[in-house]
Formats: sequence, C-alpha cells, structure tokens
Amino acid sequence: MVIGGGIAGLWSAALLARRGYQVLLIDRGPLGGGQTVASQGILHGGIKYTLGGAATAAAKAIADMPGRWHAAMTSASSADLDLSAVRSLSPAQYLWTTGSLFSRVTARVAATAIRTAVRRVEPAQACEGLHRATGIDIHRVDEPVIEPRSLIAALCDIIVQAGGVISQGEPRVKTELNLRTVELNDATVSFSTVVLAAGNGNQQLLDQIAPAQPTPAMQRRPLHMVMVRSTTGAPLPALYGHCIAALSDKPRLTITTQTDASERTAWYVGGNIAETGVDRSPADQIAAARREVAVCLPWLDLTAAQWATLRIDRAEGCTPGGEGQRPDQPVMIPVHSLESSALAVWPTKLVFAPLVGDRVVEWVTKNCVPASGNAGAGGLDALRGRWPLPPIAALPWDREETQWT
Ligand SMILES: Cc1cc2nc3c(=O)[nH]c(=O)nc-3n(C[C@H](O)[C@H](O)[C@H](O)COP(=O)(O)OP(=O)(O)OC[C@H]3O[C@@H](n4cnc5c(N)ncnc54)[C@H](O)[C@@H]3O)c2cc1C
Repeated sequence: MVIGGGIAGLWSAALLARRGYQVLLIDRGPLGGGQTVASQGILHGGIKYTLGGAATAAAKAIADMPGRWHAAMTSASSADLDLSAVRSLSPAQYLWTTGSLFSRVTARVAATAIRTAVRRVEPAQACEGLHRATGIDIHRVDEPVIEPRSLIAALCDIIVQAGGVISQGEPRVKTELNLRTVELNDATVSFSTVVLAAGNGNQQLLDQIAPAQPTPAMQRRPLHMVMVRSTTGAPLPALYGHCIAALSDKPRLTITTQTDASERTAWYVGGNIAETGVDRSPADQIAAARREVAVCLPWLDLTAAQWATLRIDRAEGCTPGGEGQRPDQPVMIPVHSLESSALAVWPTKLVFAPLVGDRVVEWVTKNCVPASGNAGAGGLDALRGRWPLPPIAALPWDREETQWT
C-alpha cells in the first residue's frame, strides 16, 4: 500500500506495480495536490547548490538525477519507467545576474563547480524574457523544466496499466500484531507493507500508526510563492531560471513559465523572495516581488500584469543534524516498531524521485510478505474498477481560491 499521490508515492507505486507487486495507492485529495503540482518542475542537476561557491553535498547527491530523468523521458532502454508522455516546458534554464561584480563572480564559480553543462550565452540565445537584457552575464544550464500535471498523468497510466489501483479517500490504517489493514471508503483491505508518502500528512499518519515514533520525524519549511499572469494585449515573455544574488547560495528569484487554463502566460516565482516573504501579507509580498522583478528584469514592463501569491509548506524529513537543517537527499525512515512493514518517505525534491524509487523497491523487496488467502491479492482484484481514478490537482494559477490583483 502506498499512501500519498505526489511524486514520491506515484513513482514508487509505478515501479512496484511494474515489478508485479499488488499495489494500492490512496490519496485523500486530488493527485499531486500537495507539493508536487505546486512545484516549479525544475529537474535540478545541482547548479543552484553551488551558488555559495563550493560543490556542496546536495550538489553531488543530485548530479546523477537529470540523466535518469532524461532516460525516462526519452524511453531509453536503461530507464526504470517510460515517461515519454511528460511535457517538457523548457530544455534548459538560465542564470542571470543583476550586473554587479559580485553577481558575475558568483555565476563564474557556479559555472565551474559542477558536472551539469553550463555555458555563457548572449541574450538573444537565452529564453525570451532575457532577450532584451543588456550589461549582464547569462549562463545556460542544461537542466530541463517539466510540467508536473503531465508527470502525474504519465505515472498514473503506468500504475493502472500494470494492474495497480489508485483511489481517493481518507485511509484509516490499523496495525495490530500480524494484521495490517486499511479501511478506505466502503472497503477493508489487508496489506503487507505500507509506504507513507503523504508529504505534509506523514506526521499525522505516523502519529496514527506508531504513536511511539521518536518525534519529530519531519519538518515544514514555509514558502510564500508569487504568481504573475499576462492580461490581454500584454503577454509575458517565457522565463526559466534564476536571478543570482551576490555570493549567496539562494537565487533572488527563480522563475518558471506555464500557460493557464485560459491560455494566458503565467510566471511562477520562487527563490529567496518566497523564503523571506513568509511573514508578509499577500499584498506586501506582491509589492516586494514587484520591486525584485524591477531590479532583476529592468528591461521588462509588467505594469499590465496581474499578481497573486500562494502559501505552501515544503515537507521534509528531519536529518540526523536535527530539525531545521535542510536535508541534502531524500529522507526515508522505517517506522518505529513496524520497521519491516512501514516506511516513511520524504523525497526532499521532485528531481530525487528516481533515488526514492530505488530505495523503496529495495525496502519492499526485502520486507514484503507475499499475500496469502483472499486477504491480499484477491482483495485488490475485487477493488479494481470499483472506484473512479482520482482527478489531478489544478495548477496554483488555475485554482478558484487564487486571488489576483
Ligand atoms: C513551491 C515549491 C516549489 C518546488 N520546486 C521544485 C523544483 O523546481 N524542483 C524539484 O525538484 N523540487 C521542487 N520542490 C520540491 C518538490 O515539489 C517536493 O519535494 C515533492 O513534490 C514532494 O513530493 P511528495 O510526494 O513527498 O509530497 P506531496 O507532493 O506533497 O504529496 C503528498 C500527497 O499525500 C496526500 N496526503 C496527505 N495526507 C494524507 C493522508 N492522511 N491520507 C492520504 N493522502 C494524504 C496529499 O493529498 C498529497 O497529494 C518544490 C516544492 C515547493 C513547495
């Protein structure tokens, strides 16, 4: 059983179903509706983590990931999953500076510190939003940006085609001696192993099934993201990348571009502004973002654009270093007193999904007890086709609750 239909749960369930396991994936809401659909979709190869001047542990851990995604998205024979249906928004992202000497130095350090191909380009060779830039350095980084909803749809297809079941509902997990069951909607299903991949919901599940788990197992890092959309007659140019701050490991702005349900261009803005803007009201955050955009992209006129914000928490596993430290890699914790039957997973980043998948498969292979009688496989057969496939969550800029100004 997999609880949580974000990237960690879907990727793990797809791999397990393809390996012949009877997989039931449950999400309490629409699929991807936690962090996954709200992510910026950047398949980082580590460039962001070198901005402080050194190749950090995070940069090294992440360096293999883009190659594995590339294999999956091009259906290479080495790929674990065929993700050729995932939509690529941009094959690359760009680092640009604000023109100060320090920013230029930072870009140069970043360019030499990691394995990802980085090369200096002229504004006209960069994405559209940088075409009119003058007097700044721009570097192209071969780190693609993907559309998260198409990723979720592709993973669902793989799970269902391999015989897995995906369901929406509030699971009530019971673990008593050797009997492990989940009550879901109108059914009770027994299971051998459970992967807790519920992001922000993992702590509540841990409290439910293993109250003695040493706490806290997870931490939340709040963000206050900004969205910008074009209005009629004033289209936003496509932008993918980071505006680099002076000798800092955090970009001032990280911007990705999508189209909304009405075919308007929408920017999704994160980076340092999203971290430092947590205590600001939406109006103050928009004002701060307008000022940052004016400094980082002075050649653009956004007076006609509409703005909104999104508050969202990153959910991460606690690292051995203690609460508050940012993990460099996925955090995976066998659940206290249920070590061989429950694993809690926080991928830390979307891009780490292949690594999460490896570790989940390894753990399940070691611990999953084949189903006996009618409790396991038979139960799942009976569920197939019983519930509709849950919907995929809307993108933040398409949500009814988003308030534009
Ligand atoms: C604003 C933002 C931007 C990001 N940008 C990037 C990026 O560009 N690149 C990158 O690599 N990473 C990025 N990340 C990180 C990445 O999005 C996350 O690490 C990843 O999506 C986490 O996936 P997950 O499957 O663990 O959790 P989630 O995507 O949060 O999924 C958890 C699911 O569990 C469900 N759930 C919760 N509780 C329960 C319950 N009790 N029962 C059943 N279901 C439950 C939820 O409904 C949800 O669907 C970003 C994160 C944020 C917040």
